[in-house]
Amino acid sequence: MKRTKIKDLFAPSLIGSEVSVMGWVRSRRGNKHVQFVALNDGSTIRNIQIVLDMARFTDEQLKPVTTGSSIHVTGKLVESMGKGQTCEIQAETLEVFGTADETFPMQKKGHTLEFLREKAHLRPRTNTFGAILRIRSALAFAIHRFFQEKGFFYLHTPLITASDCEGAGAMFQVTTLPIDNPPRTEDGAVDYSADFFGKPTALTVSGQLEGELGATALGEIYTFGPTFRAENSNTPRHLAEFWMIEPEMAFYDIKDNMDLAEEFVKYCIRYALDHCREDIEFLQQMYDPDLIQLLEGVLASDFVRLSYTEGVKILEESGRKFEFPVYWGADLQSEHERYLVEEHFKRPVILTDYPKEIKAFYMKQNEDGKTVRAMDVLFPKIGEIIGGSEREASYDKLMERITTLGIPMKDMWWYLDTRRFGTVPHSGFGLGFERLVLFVTGMTNIRDVIPFPRTPKNAEF
Ligand code: ATP
Ligand code: MN
Repeated sequence: MKRTKIKDLFAPSLIGSEVSVMGWVRSRRGNKHVQFVALNDGSTIRNIQIVLDMARFTDEQLKPVTTGSSIHVTGKLVESMGKGQTCEIQAETLEVFGTADETFPMQKKGHTLEFLREKAHLRPRTNTFGAILRIRSALAFAIHRFFQEKGFFYLHTPLITASDCEGAGAMFQVTTLPIDNPPRTEDGAVDYSADFFGKPTALTVSGQLEGELGATALGEIYTFGPTFRAENSNTPRHLAEFWMIEPEMAFYDIKDNMDLAEEFVKYCIRYALDHCREDIEFLQQMYDPDLIQLLEGVLASDFVRLSYTEGVKILEESGRKFEFPVYWGADLQSEHERYLVEEHFKRPVILTDYPKEIKAFYMKQNEDGKTVRAMDVLFPKIGEIIGGSEREASYDKLMERITTLGIPMKDMWWYLDTRRFGTVPHSGFGLGFERLVLFVTGMTNIRDVIPFPRTPKNAEF
């Protein structure tokens, strides 16, 4: 079944040749002399127009050619007279793989994004989701390319973990014990020694701790895989299952870490603009008239680098009434992050040196005794897109923090070994892939940039 993909039909050199195309019908119109079918095969946002001369085809043959049906057409590719298209196919043969009756939900246009979320199994057939999914795929490739070109190694960290102190959020338990009647120890607690792994396990919230094992052996690594957080946060920026990219680098301090983060996100945005232009233009036209200007703006700007302390000062002096109060020590909310980025600086901001109380135990402590070498990259419309830090390299300081916080380290001896044997300064960060896709596509709800979103009370499809 050799076919030409529709995206390749628009090369001028193909005009005049015989082609074979397959795809799904977006619409059919016409009269008793001639019928026009708009065909899409997912390879591009563009449809190819199929012209069916009704002297060659019967009404009976055309009947199953409905919106949503799948067909195979052969014919000659010719220049088009119609406006808005460069070429069309004069059909010679028509084969219908499968028709679609009028209950096909993706009828012509104008569905709301909410409606499409309920039909997530079919929404990839729409222009919007075709565009988003192609951009998502290109961005995933760009990420690998960026790191591979720099000599980073792709490290596969486990999805099932026995450490309950990753600290990045609530976890989903993994067990094969019968939940309605688990085996119990003498004192009545669940007997996890009878469980599959012989101890409690959960889905990972981050691959970072294992990433550090990789970095302190291979030098520079990155992970790119799914992560799971059981937080009951129903926001347009949180998923229960999302993909994260976590580079981790030996011999990088916080400054090197910031440089890498800035170069990395810019590379991804540039890649999407260069390789997904038509899809981005489509989304701009449909959803956000300023999209390309915003993307180009980020590429052209140097990210502001600012300490948390200075950031809080700006927020306090802004005179703005925020929903959540700002004061030194507060965890910044998305409204605060967006104020700094969108209104105060009008470009991305990297905020550093957060109070140690609101950040994870493994971050490098500063001399002031109050702050740690954390860095969050804050973006317009998104807020936090990256969170990272220089890691605490000193075994003693790390242990002191673990003890103060009462973190259960019984299963973490392996992590501490990085600081016992040849410890090095090192840094890393995590980028939420869907937050990047949100930014590049101009969409506003994270459920619309992953094919099958998992959120509280929703694991359909
Ligand atoms: P937030 O404050 O936005 O909830 P976080 O500080 O909990 O995020 P980190 O633990 O720093 O997140 O994770 C690193 C990155 O992963 C974040 O910068 C963000 O881009 C992304 N991320 C975190 N949680 C989610 C989520 N539930 N859904 C999608 N992306 C997420
Ligand atoms: Mn964070």
